[in-house]
Amino acid sequence: MIQFFTIREITGYLKEKQLQNRSIGFVPTMGALHEGHLTLIRQSKSENDLTVCSIFVNPVQFNNKEDLEKYPRDLARDYKMLEETGCDILFSPENKEMYPDNQPEPLDLEFGMLDKVMEGKFRPGHFKGVAIVVKKLFGIIHPTRAYFGKKDFQQLAVIRHLVHSLEIPVIIVPCDTIREPDGLAMSSRNMRLTVTERQTAPIIHHVLCKVKEKAGILPVPELKAWAVRKIEENGKMHVEYFEICDKEHLLPIENWDRKENAVAFTAVFLGTVRLIDNIELFS
Ligand code: AMP
Repeated sequence: MIQFFTIREITGYLKEKQLQNRSIGFVPTMGALHEGHLTLIRQSKSENDLTVCSIFVNPVQFNNKEDLEKYPRDLARDYKMLEETGCDILFSPENKEMYPDNQPEPLDLEFGMLDKVMEGKFRPGHFKGVAIVVKKLFGIIHPTRAYFGKKDFQQLAVIRHLVHSLEIPVIIVPCDTIREPDGLAMSSRNMRLTVTERQTAPIIHHVLCKVKEKAGILPVPELKAWAVRKIEENGKMHVEYFEICDKEHLLPIENWDRKENAVAFTAVFLGTVRLIDNIELFS
């Protein structure tokens, strides 16, 4: 695996590959890698000539300074995992490489409701920050395909909107959420859970599975209220939101009229750690 730290070096290297018509698969990450990330890398490897992974803890997408400071970082460990998985190229720039003079390029793009509900509502500016960095990374890598996890379903919708609106020539490939054996969605944030919090955390997925069973039977508002009660009943978790939305526009649905598009989303605080998860209710 070749590691690049600067834009000049990686663009020079990739330009040559692009001239040879090699397809490039791209997996943008913030590091602290786990099996979820590695699954995206493997899928990219199976569909492209070359796979590039980026590791960049993007300060612009954090609306909470403490969350940014506490974000786990271990580049040496990540490097080893990527090499073992057969990733071809790692791009791991410093902040000043991505944002010279601390100045991210402004992005003049409206996201409609996509960045105003759920994660957008509780993390103002988050998706704008994600869009800024992904646009910049696409401009550096020029990938044929880019891989994103459905774990961050709303992010996927924002990226699709970005690519469509700016006519960026890349195929966005959504990938299923990878889970621990007990159902907890893998996340870099899981390593911040205490032992007892870690034992409690799978409840989120278990409740989402129950919601899937009851979807279409219980009325939507009743089902949402039931889910919040179930997640919070042991007194250890606090639900920030629990929504059932349509998967394209992410607008809350009030009934089951267009149930085939319904997805349940939640964000839950377990101690100081904020976990998100979702489930497609009719697929
Ligand atoms: P992150 O490093 O958390 O920004 O994630 C980088 C990419 O990995 C994003 O596209 C995430 O959606 C994806 N990802 C993170 N966790 C998982 C998971 N458990 N399953 C599938 N994809 C994931």
